[in-house]
Amino acid sequence: MPADHSWDLLFTHVTLATLEGGHPFGLIENAALACTGDRIAWLGPMAALPADATARRVEHLEQRVLTPGLIDCHTHLVFAGNRAHEFDLRLNGATYEQIARAGGGILSSVRAVRAASEDALLAQSLPRARALLADGVTTLEIKSGYGLEFESERKMLRVARRIGELLGITVRTTYLAAHALPPEYCDDADGYIDAVIDWLPRLHDEGLVDAVDAFCEGIGFSPAQTRRVFAAARALGLPVKLHADQLSNLGGAALAAAFDGLSADHLEHTDAEGVQAMAAHGTVAVLLPGAFHVLRETRLPPIAQLREHGVPMAVATDCNPGTSPLLSLRQAMQLACTHFRLTPDEAGTSPIPPNCAIGSAEHWPSASMWLAVHSPDRSVFPCA
Ligand SMILES: [Zn+2]
Repeated sequence: MPADHSWDLLFTHVTLATLEGGHPFGLIENAALACTGDRIAWLGPMAALPADATARRVEHLEQRVLTPGLIDCHTHLVFAGNRAHEFDLRLNGATYEQIARAGGGILSSVRAVRAASEDALLAQSLPRARALLADGVTTLEIKSGYGLEFESERKMLRVARRIGELLGITVRTTYLAAHALPPEYCDDADGYIDAVIDWLPRLHDEGLVDAVDAFCEGIGFSPAQTRRVFAAARALGLPVKLHADQLSNLGGAALAAAFDGLSADHLEHTDAEGVQAMAAHGTVAVLLPGAFHVLRETRLPPIAQLREHGVPMAVATDCNPGTSPLLSLRQAMQLACTHFRLTPDEAGTSPIPPNCAIGSAEHWPSASMWLAVHSPDRSVFPCA
């Protein structure tokens, strides 16, 4: 049977990033890409476009770059208020500890989130998701962790779900109640972990949790406390990921790997044992150069060892009001190249699977993936 070359949509004159190996980004210059329904039906150089090709709609893209929709796999973009004032204080000589003692830091975001209604939290967070979307992001992970009490954690996760529904993009929610110790539990971190574990099945029953995370750090929670949270998550069949080894080496990367973690994130202080454990368990290294940049860190994640052991690396924005107020994944990729010396190819994403699904803004809300057209005005192309 001859191939059917009558399509719904045909992009012509694009610079197509297939992200397939061999040459940078798998670029095909002066390419075309055709869609039928929510599937890519054909792609290749313009010169190879079948002579009988027709499409209901044809878009001439003037050699703009066309990529798969980007995935931002680590964000805290649901929050209220902002912490710009603390940035000013720090530059005027205040230390992070002084700011925290004066009620700043994560706990100032906690107060703002607790005080905001669900609708107000959504109204403040939605523009941030839209900004990422305009930058080419079509799949987004959003964490809780500024509520630190049942109802406020629930409110954050509900807002994250609503963002996905409203924008028609894929949002994965992560329960991060073990982010900081709330004032109600000062000096009782173990008691707070009991509460975190108690809330989890209730939120999971409501369909609000796709994964579970923790901040394993001297100023966060200990490895033993993190293990308790992870054991509770795995008992419910939920995958885990971890803020690991950002400021010190508590063995977070190996801990995440031991629970078959989806990822260990940050990793500035991860040692060889942690890298080997990640390689053995297929745990992804999520690099967050935005926080590294804002905090003026000097210790780099073990990029060479991650490469050597074949640990998959991903780059994310870590969008948050304190240490990474970053709303561009492409900027994060650029920072990963500049600070961490990733190659542009490493900072990119995986190849377009054959016959993969595409999506298109609000028009096709059921689609699982969009195509992002990167133009000087940073727009995601509305495919339908
Ligand atoms: Zn984070």
